Amino acid sequence: MAGILVYALHYEGAFNKNSLGAVAEAARLASELGTEAHAIVVGEGVSDDLAGQLGGYGAAKVFKVEGPEGLSQPVVDAMAKVMTDNGHDYALFGGGLLGFEIGAGLAARIGAGVTMEVTSVSVDGGKLVAERPILGDSSISESRYKGKGIIIGRLNAFEVPASNGGTAAVETVDVEFSPWSTKAKMVQRGEQRGADVDIEGADVLIAGGRGLGKPEGFDQLQDLAGAFGGNSAVAATRAVVDAGWYPYAAQIGQTGKTVAPKLYLAAGISGAIQHKVGMQSSENIVAINKDSNAPIFEFSDLGIVGDLNKIVPKLIEAVKAKKG
Ligand code: FAD
Repeated sequence: MAGILVYALHYEGAFNKNSLGAVAEAARLASELGTEAHAIVVGEGVSDDLAGQLGGYGAAKVFKVEGPEGLSQPVVDAMAKVMTDNGHDYALFGGGLLGFEIGAGLAARIGAGVTMEVTSVSVDGGKLVAERPILGDSSISESRYKGKGIIIGRLNAFEVPASNGGTAAVETVDVEFSPWSTKAKMVQRGEQRGADVDIEGADVLIAGGRGLGKPEGFDQLQDLAGAFGGNSAVAATRAVVDAGWYPYAAQIGQTGKTVAPKLYLAAGISGAIQHKVGMQSSENIVAINKDSNAPIFEFSDLGIVGDLNKIVPKLIEAVKAKKG
């Protein structure tokens, strides 16, 4: 049957939040299309119980494939087989680098159109339409598909509802992996620094943007947060998170987290509307920017015009001195 297939990434017995959002989004779209949303789980020894939990987010059925975890090529093999055997018209991914890799490989394998960094999906004329920002996020492009379509969301583009407690039927599928798919092995997983920081609960947030110039620019922000001590943390804009300078978990804004700390100190952040919506309720906003016309100054309580590389070290000294 025609339908939407969602790749559900899981790790240590829990599904990735963006995958859950994609399942819920697929369920919404499928009901408008008059079809079903299905999910696919690839991994070693995944229990039916875990796979079935995706029913609570709207999956009508879950395909379970025994295979290597966390690698793109085996998932391409598995999704190509399931989509071909079951006649799915669309595949949907929650976002992230693995989704980009799998989606691109899958599109090439089954001859589908592919759209990445999608922020919104709708139904028009019985087909899916995907929207993605282009030209430095200044315009929106719309993708429609002549045949099958692969849609890969931006991280956090799809809202994650709470599970309704339902379970889905689980169908185990045997997949014959391509020879190249079994060549790579996952040997180790690492955690990104800051990935576990609770920025939503912080009283003092030191946020960095592209003006930091390089990933190491975050070191001085960590030092400043450390000088404040207590309940302080470091956050980031989407631009630097997308560039891989800082973890997604610390992203503030429309497609990140919404915060309202006592102090929000923005260093090298322009103040785009999508960033503003995530931090505008902060009690005190202080911005450091070398451009006196930067939009962030329009909604800051205190603006410091200058080079953050000169100002942040002075601030660290001043805060430490004050704290004694
Ligand atoms: P830039 O806009 O490049 O700004 C860098 C700033 O640093 C400039 O103002 C510059 O003057 C200053 N600077 C440079 N060097 C120095 C220096 N040495 N000292 C001091 N200042 C310096 N963005 C988010 O942040 N969060 C979101 O959730 C988000 N969601 C989005 C969703 C959609 C649908 C779209 C279209 C966009 C979204 N964006 C989001 C992106 C947003 O539009 C901006 O592109 C982004 O916020 C810009 O990040 P930035 O301020 O780090 O970089």
